[in-house]
Amino acid sequence: MVASESIRRPMSSRRVEALPASGIRRFFDIIATMDDVISLGVGEPDFVTPERVREAAIRSIRDGQTHYTSNFGMYELRELIARDLERRFGVSYDPATEIMCVAGVSEGLNVACQAVLDPGDEVLSPDPYYVAYPPTVMLAGGVFIGVPTDEAHDYRLQVADLERYVSPRTRALLMGYPANPTGADLTRADLEAIASFVERHDLIVIIDEIYARLVYGGEHICFAALPGMRERTVLLGGFSKAYAMTGWRLGYVAAPAEGLEAMMKVHQYVMMSAPTAAQYAAIEALRSAEEDVQLMLAEYDRRRRLVVARFNAMGLHCFEPRGAFYVFPDISSTGLDDETFAERLLFEERVAVVPGSVFGVCGAGHVRACYATAYEQLEEALDRIERFVTRVRAEAR
Ligand code: PLP
Repeated sequence: MVASESIRRPMSSRRVEALPASGIRRFFDIIATMDDVISLGVGEPDFVTPERVREAAIRSIRDGQTHYTSNFGMYELRELIARDLERRFGVSYDPATEIMCVAGVSEGLNVACQAVLDPGDEVLSPDPYYVAYPPTVMLAGGVFIGVPTDEAHDYRLQVADLERYVSPRTRALLMGYPANPTGADLTRADLEAIASFVERHDLIVIIDEIYARLVYGGEHICFAALPGMRERTVLLGGFSKAYAMTGWRLGYVAAPAEGLEAMMKVHQYVMMSAPTAAQYAAIEALRSAEEDVQLMLAEYDRRRRLVVARFNAMGLHCFEPRGAFYVFPDISSTGLDDETFAERLLFEERVAVVPGSVFGVCGAGHVRACYATAYEQLEEALDRIERFVTRVRAEAR
């Protein structure tokens, strides 16, 4: 008997079989085979990590710092993270028991869901949502429930909508603001209304603050800073976006000690400790890269103004993002659905954007374009998109 004949069971579990297929992946498989594509698809800074930060990691490796750290991460880094959270959000965490370094917000979200959810627990989250939210909830045995948001309310989660979707099985609310893919952010009044909703239904709140440093003009308020909310909140933060450190895989979880202890139990078995060289890099980032963050932020803002203006000028209505580095223009006036729009744009003009329905039912009729791309590249991409839209409109006449 040959080996393959003896295998009767598929390798994937029913849990994994049930996961939605990634709508983005198919797209990026196609892009990988093409030349001359300007990609506004991937949500990642075009900047390289600031040099001092890279040097700090190289130095740590040269010095032989190549071992595991504490499961929680290096104490010095946790202290710096605590200070940073206090400074930016006005929320205090004890670095000894309430902060844990993880391999990016991605891992933080996983350990939070694994630690908080029991099988069948429902998790409410605004739709459109970051693509990893539903699968992460599902892998932890939970049930993801998208709560619709719309542009009429600036894509800000409304308590009236939360009330329509909450049930006795609801265990948690998962929110990421500033939001991927819309760039929306919540106001203090929104957060206060959500806080009383959360109290009324006794929910845990998982907040994804990965874009909290990338806010244009306005103030970003952290949900954990609201009275009484710190005790119910799991705060996820990271270095990927603001410090241009996507490849380092470093983030953190901040939560009340009892909750963090549960998450550490998961983290120690799946990851042991966050990458050591990346922790050294993050220490340097928090100590000395503030100016770099501000320079990158100013450049993102310049690009943001360009793309919003250009999409609106070509008749693709574009919500003005308050944060992150995405625009989410409404492409329905072209008569194409978002998948067809993105696919034709890719093949005909070699510009990659992401179809909005990948981000949930409320994303339909939109595409997501990431403007963390060089200004001149963005100008060229926008020229190509304009040419495409003009052609599609002429065809329809
Ligand atoms: N959360 C959101 C909303 C994101 O958009 C992303 C990346 O695109 C992540 C988390 C992943 O962050 P990290 O690189 O820290 O894992």
